[in-house]
Amino acid sequence: MSFLCRSYGCFPRCLAVLLGVSLALIAVPCALGESKVFRAGAFAIDISPVEFPVIINGGMAERTADKVVDPLHARCLVLDDGASQIALAVVDSCMLPRELVDEVKRLAHAATNIPIDRILISATHTHSAPSSMGCLGSSRDDRYCHFVVPRIAQGIERAQKNLAPAKIGWAVGRDEENVGCRRWRMKPGTAPTNPFGGTTNDQAQMHPGYGNENAIEPLGPVDPEVTVLSLQTVDGRPLAVLANYSMHYVGAPAVSADYFAIFCDKMTKLVGGEASDPPFMAALSNGTSGDTWLLDYTKESRRQFDLDSVATSVANAAFDAYQQIEYQSWAPIVMEEKLLTLAVRLPGADELARAKEVVAALDGKKPTVVPDIYAREAVMLSEMPPTRELKIQAIRLGEMGIVGIPNEVFASTGISIKAETPLQPTMNISLANGSEGYIPPPEQHKLGGYTTWRARTSCLETEAEPKIRAAVLELLARVAAHP
Ligand SMILES: [Zn+2]
Repeated sequence: MSFLCRSYGCFPRCLAVLLGVSLALIAVPCALGESKVFRAGAFAIDISPVEFPVIINGGMAERTADKVVDPLHARCLVLDDGASQIALAVVDSCMLPRELVDEVKRLAHAATNIPIDRILISATHTHSAPSSMGCLGSSRDDRYCHFVVPRIAQGIERAQKNLAPAKIGWAVGRDEENVGCRRWRMKPGTAPTNPFGGTTNDQAQMHPGYGNENAIEPLGPVDPEVTVLSLQTVDGRPLAVLANYSMHYVGAPAVSADYFAIFCDKMTKLVGGEASDPPFMAALSNGTSGDTWLLDYTKESRRQFDLDSVATSVANAAFDAYQQIEYQSWAPIVMEEKLLTLAVRLPGADELARAKEVVAALDGKKPTVVPDIYAREAVMLSEMPPTRELKIQAIRLGEMGIVGIPNEVFASTGISIKAETPLQPTMNISLANGSEGYIPPPEQHKLGGYTTWRARTSCLETEAEPKIRAAVLELLARVAAHP
């Protein structure tokens, strides 16, 4: 009896164990299935200044503005593949220094728990926004920096709150019309040489203009691609678009987001995102435009353009690509970052002595002309550390790559990364996670010109470009190889 009892008593337990095992086997794929829900959330937070005047940087000399012509935003996107979460923010600013971006990330992490090394924050490079960083003749606007840091972090927090099941897709369009190499080889002795730029007998010049008989040829290629990442709800309603184009900026009266915001408004209309709740968000990040502006000096004469015509053209190219997108219901998210320490080009003792004399003669006034500005830059660089640490990032979204480089990158570098990346397409976002200046390739350094002139915004060693490119490609290979 007791035996039978035990036997019979055992049977239900065995059955239960067997059933439990079976249920577990059924439950495992269910659990995996549940973890494979892809989600996206977006939010564009207004970061327009509220106190005036504000300092505007981006030009040689400092300017100020006392009104908002059109609002500035930090356009934030949070993506989640069920296992990891990342955030991207595209900020209407000329440049965002590393310490400011790091503070935003600390606040965003505290509010969202998204790891600090899974956040990419970039500047659009509008030249009509409050100064978040001292550069050339302009100081940093400290009051605005205190205002904007928590605002960008709040934008990321709001984007995370908007997370909803989504599908993801990407495509690449082209706008050949608005990219021209702004850096030209000139006849010997005709390019200006800056007495405090650290170069001699410059052969390269910015913006030679049309029909300049001293201008020989453009010194680099352009990248006309408009790369588009799109997120839609599961039933096909547009949630967000992150686009990328390699053109410096158009130029606008301050305070303004330049053409970047007009692109976003046009894209919202084109995709039918106007009445969405939560609101549809478009963002246009800057690609590799360190030597690219919108005029092509190989043509006979200057064409007509304005903020609206450029934004329309780039938005139409983005929308052409958008209509080709094939969506995936899930894609893996992998993100890696790397710190790279590079040497700084410093002035020699003689140069520094001459520069100090010029700065002393300014008698505390802000410099406004090129020699004075670069003399002050030489003195400032001599008082800064002899190396800089760069933060470089790569993201994989399915088969797509996104790169964050903290520099103003030449088009040739971007094209080379796109040719060698294992992830197609790859979107190169410049001025991301800091602002470490222009990185002309070594052969361009030899030719001089504005982008090589030594300043806080162009001071990395002449071998910086190949080192940064190698680091980017190493990160892309790493995220691509991730199972
Ligand atoms: Zn620039």
